[in-house]
Amino acid sequence: MTVLASIRDLAVTHRRDGIEVAALKNVTLDVQAGERLAIIGESGSGKSTLALAIAGLLPKSARIGGSIEWFAPPLGGRDIGFVFQDPSASLDPVMSVSKQIAEVVHTHLGLGWPASRAKARTLLERVRLPDPDSALHAFPHQLSGGQKQRVAIAAAIAAGPKLLIADEATSALDTIVQAEIVALIRRLVTEDGMTLLFISHDIALAAELAERIAVFRHGALVELGTTRQIIDAPSQAYTRTLLDAHIGLDADLLLNRSGLPA
Ligand code: ADP
Ligand code: MG
Repeated sequence: MTVLASIRDLAVTHRRDGIEVAALKNVTLDVQAGERLAIIGESGSGKSTLALAIAGLLPKSARIGGSIEWFAPPLGGRDIGFVFQDPSASLDPVMSVSKQIAEVVHTHLGLGWPASRAKARTLLERVRLPDPDSALHAFPHQLSGGQKQRVAIAAAIAAGPKLLIADEATSALDTIVQAEIVALIRRLVTEDGMTLLFISHDIALAAELAERIAVFRHGALVELGTTRQIIDAPSQAYTRTLLDAHIGLDADLLLNRSGLPA
């Protein structure tokens, strides 16, 4: 397996109101090319800080130690697609859905506007918006939360990234829509051969999608293993407490759910 990114002793400190917060503490982790890796842990455990560090999006005020080495250095917004928890925050409220996606294509792939608009149409079909033709002319506020997240995902994959980072991308959605978006992400990642970093506070949800799970606590990587190892035989008591929140969690059942339609 090829390593896409080699993270070594990554330490990130945020400064807030003059107080230093150690958000990541000496994290060492290899992200394998083409894998689906979940990053899980409670709120405040450093998951988003890790995602932003990998995407090169940490605020300038953050102090960063250690290193991230890439097999092939990413070309900014083109090689890394990012999906956030709140699609409204990543979509421009006064720009039509097609224009937003076409703009990503135009900017990152350098296609002309007619070709960029045509690609936007194709992307809306790929994320299965119910009516891609009318969705093209829609504005974000006319779409449901799940539909907006489908558009945000279309924009995130528009430039054909190698790595897709989904940071709590389903956490604001109700359970049924959440399952649909998980299935959508799984399908797109498989179709395009992308590497996936799926970030969630929900270990059961992560297990439905990921091949490996990295467990974070207080900024440290406390456990890393295959999804089956983590679910069936976690080595850390902390991981067990996360699992205990899901009574009767069954690895076979979760892994079988991977076959759900997208
Ligand atoms: P998670 O995504 O797991 O909830 P975060 O990476 O967002 O965790 O946060 C880790 C720690 O760093 C928390 O204590 C949080 O309050 C702090 N933190 C995160 N971002 C900033 C920031 N921009 N400024 C100050 N502190 C931050
Ligand atoms: Mg977060």
